[in-house]
Amino acid sequence: MAEQTSGQTNMEKLVSLCQRRGFIFPSSEIYGGLSSCWDYGPLGVELKQNVKQAWWRAIVRERDDMVGLDASILMHPKVWEASGHLEGFSDPLVECKSCHLRWRTDELKDNSCPSCGGEVTEPHLFNLMFKTFMGPIEEEANVVYLRPETAQGIFVNFQNVLNTTRKRLPFGIAQMGKAFRNEITTGNFIFRSREFEQMEIEYFVKPGTAEEWFDYWLEERRNWYVNLGIKKENLRLRPHTEEELAHYARKCSDIDFLFPMGWAELEGIANRGDFDLVQHAKYSGKSLSYLDEETNEHIVPYIIEPSAGVDRSVLAFLCDAYAEEPDKEEIRVLLHLHPDLAPIKVAVLPLSKRENLVQFAKEIYADLRACWMVQYDDTQSIGRRYRRQDEIGTPFCVTIDFQSLEDNQVTIRERDSMNQIRLPIAELKETLAAKLAGEELFVLPPGGQIWKEGGNESQN
Ligand code: ATP
Repeated sequence: MAEQTSGQTNMEKLVSLCQRRGFIFPSSEIYGGLSSCWDYGPLGVELKQNVKQAWWRAIVRERDDMVGLDASILMHPKVWEASGHLEGFSDPLVECKSCHLRWRTDELKDNSCPSCGGEVTEPHLFNLMFKTFMGPIEEEANVVYLRPETAQGIFVNFQNVLNTTRKRLPFGIAQMGKAFRNEITTGNFIFRSREFEQMEIEYFVKPGTAEEWFDYWLEERRNWYVNLGIKKENLRLRPHTEEELAHYARKCSDIDFLFPMGWAELEGIANRGDFDLVQHAKYSGKSLSYLDEETNEHIVPYIIEPSAGVDRSVLAFLCDAYAEEPDKEEIRVLLHLHPDLAPIKVAVLPLSKRENLVQFAKEIYADLRACWMVQYDDTQSIGRRYRRQDEIGTPFCVTIDFQSLEDNQVTIRERDSMNQIRLPIAELKETLAAKLAGEELFVLPPGGQIWKEGGNESQN
């Protein structure tokens, strides 16, 4: 089987599949698109929600040392003074004097434009924050910024969360939400865009324990990707060098993924020390300390920050899931998405459009829909319908044939192996739930059997 690894997944093919099947469209496409902004279509929005839900479940719901937050995108402008974003969140930028393209200085090989070879201007600093105005008057006093990261919303709520939840160290606050950066160079599909979503954890610890929590979160976060189907060999940890470290970080390591264009950051994990709480205490004049009950002393906790991108995660999951397999005369394109991430969990496919069969199938569809995202499809040959579901990563198809009307049995067909089992409808929901949770297909429910006759996947 000539399966592609993510490193070989062709970005063009993936982008084309995403557009063709309704995962991701260019923003405002009918107007020619808006540079580096993307819209998630009917399947993309499900996939993205599933990624976020998987993160929330692992980080907030299943842990008792973590709580959630949803802070506003617009924040007091002082926040960005305290955080250092107003002064430091900028890239040195040059402009080509002939074609006027702009480049980050780290993108230049020599002192000429990488596109046309023209002479470039002296570098100047370009702040990456989007600026807008609060209220009807557009003047400097009313300037606010679209947040370039979700983290600051957590720091400024530290005391609120502490007072209302009575959490003790170590504990974390998690938040998912939109962030905006006026990136100079974008591209590689949803890898780097100007509007994107982050999933961030700020984990507050006693200062002396920061190193061990840093290592803990590195491992924890790597495992999260692996448990959801990312191949271990496509992930690597890349510690930052001293020169690379951001102004707030004592230590930082990226979790890199082997994207089609090469290794690149999927998530960053930083030991931020006490920088953020100290800065916000200084700029707000409010105490942001913690009373250590053991020593009866006020301390400023250290922060470990695992900061992930939703869109980059979606891209990584898609890259790793994409495969092309020889299938008789043709190529079967499929997404091996983990069942938790698959946009559609089950497809209900009646073998014919005959009224009695359709009615029967629709009852099953209505029943399953109460539990999962389920799709009903009765157009074209069964082979084509299987291929359509494979291509969007649907883990299971339920096929209903004329015999089903007599014996109340249906078949379940598995995406990856294309194997099938037949089982009583009374067992269907429970069996699907077990299979979606990872049970082997051939673990049969009462009255179930391995199915061969129904295995016709011809394209005709
Ligand atoms: P890069 O070096 O790729 O610009 P960064 O180090 O600036 O990323 P962080 O500030 O650490 O990124 O943000 C945390 C995470 O947010 C990143 O690991 C990435 O997944 C996501 N992210 C950051 N910038 C973008 C962007 N422009 N588009 C999509 N996702 C982004």
